[in-house]
Amino acid sequence: MTTTFLPVLNEVEKASIRERQPLPEAYLNLPDDEMALRIAAARAALGDRLVILGHHYQRDEVIRFADHTGDSFKLARSIARHPRADYIVFCGVHFMAESADVLALPHQKIILPDLAAGCSMADMAAPDQLETCWAELQQLGLASRVVPITYINSAVSIKSFVGEQGGGICTSANAAASLAWGWQRKEKILFLPDQHLGRNTAWRMGVPLDRMVVWDPHEPFGGLTRNQIERASLILWKGHCSVHVRFTAAQIEQVRREHPGIRVIVHPEVPFDVLQAADDSGSTEHILKSVRESPAGSIWAVGTEVHLVHRLAEEVAPAKTVVSLDRFGCLCSTMFRVSPNHLLWVLDALVDGEVVNEIVVPDEQKKWAKIALDRMLSIH
Ligand code: SF4
Repeated sequence: MTTTFLPVLNEVEKASIRERQPLPEAYLNLPDDEMALRIAAARAALGDRLVILGHHYQRDEVIRFADHTGDSFKLARSIARHPRADYIVFCGVHFMAESADVLALPHQKIILPDLAAGCSMADMAAPDQLETCWAELQQLGLASRVVPITYINSAVSIKSFVGEQGGGICTSANAAASLAWGWQRKEKILFLPDQHLGRNTAWRMGVPLDRMVVWDPHEPFGGLTRNQIERASLILWKGHCSVHVRFTAAQIEQVRREHPGIRVIVHPEVPFDVLQAADDSGSTEHILKSVRESPAGSIWAVGTEVHLVHRLAEEVAPAKTVVSLDRFGCLCSTMFRVSPNHLLWVLDALVDGEVVNEIVVPDEQKKWAKIALDRMLSIH
């Protein structure tokens, strides 16, 4: 069974979509086993002309067909390993497919199985808001002392702007190294769109909270005075991940009560107090590695998207126990929009020589976004 969703796309996302088509009737209500067989047959027919990338937050019925699984950083790096592939089907969300198009070779086409798979965090930083922010920093005479760094979870227009201003892009895997890179260049960093990743990372690097301010893009001058910005080393954009802000410090207290000796590991997109209460934090790749390499008998509570947590729990059982920090599990509903039905549809179309749901980044945005993404890939 599949569910169709109305797409929620911002103007930037719309601009990078060449053609949007709804899921055809024939792909609704297909039995899972039939879809699995047909996806496997289409993959075999396309051979090495096709690469399927799957983000860790994808559902099981989709990710099992991925040639590479990983977080944003790992998947972005994997593109260079397939210069002969013509089609890269990105089972993830919109900004990831955009980045893939920027990094791909000219002959390669990037396909997002469901164009409605966006990211609420990326939507929290619109290009006109960033332009206004930069103009206001210039008006205050501060822009020349600021380097912008955007999390990869942002629209390509944001990445392009940041690249043009001499800034960079980071992922949760290299956020600390990226901030260090930024402070080597300028005395202040404007970090967007996720305030929590910026705050948590900088705090772990030794930056006190009183050297950080939050820029609210809905307020003139971010709702800040010149003095406040002058004193800050880090200007945090007021954005967040709607999945990771659902984790709370109270949940950590509860799992510690229920499972004495449990270790709590969270993604750095969680709020500051949650990160403080946890034992460890890091990218999804770091979470996977930490749990996999822990001794037998370990018990873990993991604070990130529920599909990753469930798969990890199955993988390490019975030697180790993994539970979701949120007992109901935090689901990324936009990642969930990529269904096996959509995957089958786009693969069938490729077998027939048709490209549907292609993501095409405008050339004028590609240049600076690529410079910024290349910087990201070089910073570990
Ligand atoms: S988990 Fe959060 S940041 Fe990641 S795609 Fe979903 S909404 Fe965006």
